[in-house]
Amino acid sequence: MIALVTGANRGIGREVARQLVEAGHTVLVTARSADAAAGVAAELGPDAHPLRLDVTSTDDVVRCAADVADRFGVLDALVNNAAITYDTWQRAADADLDVVRDAAETNLYGPWRLVQALLPLLRASRHGRIVNVSSEAASLAGMGGGTPAYTVSKVGLNALTRMLAAELRPDRILVNAVCPGWVATDMGGPGGRPVTAGAASVVWAVTLPDDGPTGGFFRDGRPLRW
Ligand code: NDP
Repeated sequence: MIALVTGANRGIGREVARQLVEAGHTVLVTARSADAAAGVAAELGPDAHPLRLDVTSTDDVVRCAADVADRFGVLDALVNNAAITYDTWQRAADADLDVVRDAAETNLYGPWRLVQALLPLLRASRHGRIVNVSSEAASLAGMGGGTPAYTVSKVGLNALTRMLAAELRPDRILVNAVCPGWVATDMGGPGGRPVTAGAASVVWAVTLPDDGPTGGFFRDGRPLRW
């Protein structure tokens, strides 16, 4: 399998890339810093290929899709992992809407523009997988207050997951949202579970069999409520 992981230079994305390479897959290790992508790819070995990719940049996304097309001609899995702004410091009632807009640009429009650019390559795979790394914070069923920019962006990502899953069913592309759980990363802070466990929750959805679920929301392979 050839998989592309966004934000693969640190945290859960880096560990997802590591686990996929360890399982024998080819991974496009993408990061908004070319040096960071190259450093991680060098650590992971010859099956890891570095690519600079800022998911908020249409130019980067277009160049990245062209690069993958030239080098591989196909993409089996897209892991939309990159995200920003776990805004515990604000509330919806008086949130800074510029912060909300920036979060959506990375966490929602980033995955959306990548899907659009990479869809021809995912269709070429005939085993396409799109994994949108989301959060249980975005479950409408359990929603309380807090982290408005982050949560609204992930609710949008969950909605996008449902729509893409329905639209891409004829292409046999499985599209799922995954929560990695609370994970000890720069975003999660100390006290969360190990990054290996959070990444495994994501890798489960990347490596689903062809008759696996689509349009679902999962953590550790078990369904979450939308
Ligand atoms: P980190 O903050 O540790 O890492 C975020 C990654 O996203 C970094 O590689 C960062 O790159 C990258 N990134 C940010 N903006 C962009 C951009 N514009 N283009 C490309 N890459 C970008 O977060 P985690 O590893 O903890 O989170 C990974 C995913 O898991 C996210 O989607 C997050 O919402 C989700 N999640 C995490 C939880 C947790 O407890 N940690 C809980 C629930 C969900 P750079 O180094 O350049 O900043």
